[in-house]
Amino acid sequence: MIDLRSDTVTKPCAGMLTAMMNAKVGDDVFGEDPTVNELEAMAATMFGMEAGIFCPSGTMTNQIAIKVHTQPGDEVICDKLAHIYQYEGGGIAFNSGCSVKLLDGDKGRIYADQVIEGINANQDYKAATSLVALENTTNRGGGSCYDFKEIIAIREVCAANNLGLHLDGARLFNALVEKKETPKQYGEIFDSISICLSKGLGTPVGSILLGTDRFIKRARRVRKAFGGGMRQAGFLAAAGIYALENNIDRLKEDHLHARQIAAALSEKDFVVDVLPVETNIVIAELKGRLNPTSFVAEMQTNDILVMNISAHQIRMVVHLDVSKEMVNKIVAVIRSL
Ligand SMILES: *Cc1c(COP(=O)(O)O)cnc(C)c1O
Repeated sequence: MIDLRSDTVTKPCAGMLTAMMNAKVGDDVFGEDPTVNELEAMAATMFGMEAGIFCPSGTMTNQIAIKVHTQPGDEVICDKLAHIYQYEGGGIAFNSGCSVKLLDGDKGRIYADQVIEGINANQDYKAATSLVALENTTNRGGGSCYDFKEIIAIREVCAANNLGLHLDGARLFNALVEKKETPKQYGEIFDSISICLSKGLGTPVGSILLGTDRFIKRARRVRKAFGGGMRQAGFLAAAGIYALENNIDRLKEDHLHARQIAAALSEKDFVVDVLPVETNIVIAELKGRLNPTSFVAEMQTNDILVMNISAHQIRMVVHLDVSKEMVNKIVAVIRSL
């Protein structure tokens, strides 16, 4: 089976497993796991931020960040497709008691002037806007990347209005390699950044939340309250260190593979549109001979798993466990349909 449903399906390679097996561990709730401490410090240094905290999932890093940035009754601004709103179980309301102002952005990306319009007036009867959350790359927006100039413009709006700025960077490394940007550029701009190790970087578990010492200190308390304090988590953190050292540059290959798959799709009569492929996600709109359900079934007959994400769209996500040979097969199967 070739699994293109998500980049979360990767399994650790031999090198990563060896690193995990050899990890020095301790009780991380006591702050005594040397490998977790090393991973947190490594990620913070990479982004030029003061501190980091290792968490079980990207959902938890985002939700902790929202909790630390807000008070119950506040409002969070994000795009209508944002993962924090669409795919985190209503967590913004559930965990933080906040409402959400959804902006109608472009493929998951919002603009500074939209943010300005989205900020509530300072009135007793309005929810207090306190946080803006961006996503880069965008998940439901098909792996689109922000123009860094727009991020700077949004930062200025946040500074002028005393709003926190959080980045859901579950796939930030895909954007960094594609746009030739650096982690430090992002570390300078955002108050908090969440990065996933278990997507394109290929670890079995784990995300890191980055911020100031003060912010991460508060995040530690929230992580505990959310049930995310782990004990000998160094076995997992070792996979994260391995991933940061070995699996970032190779994301370029995934992007090339995604473009090859998109090119094959765009030649088909049943494909009416393919979203521009910027990174490792391909989203196509189908109509006619094959609809998303029948396309998924046809691909599965050929041992390829893909996902239908709406009544008219399918998604394929390329990752570390998809080789060049597999991409050749995927392209051949698409051509044969
Ligand atoms: C996958 C993802 C997350 C976190 O997902 P988990 O499965 O909880 O690790 C957060 N944001 C985006 C944009 C994602 O794609």
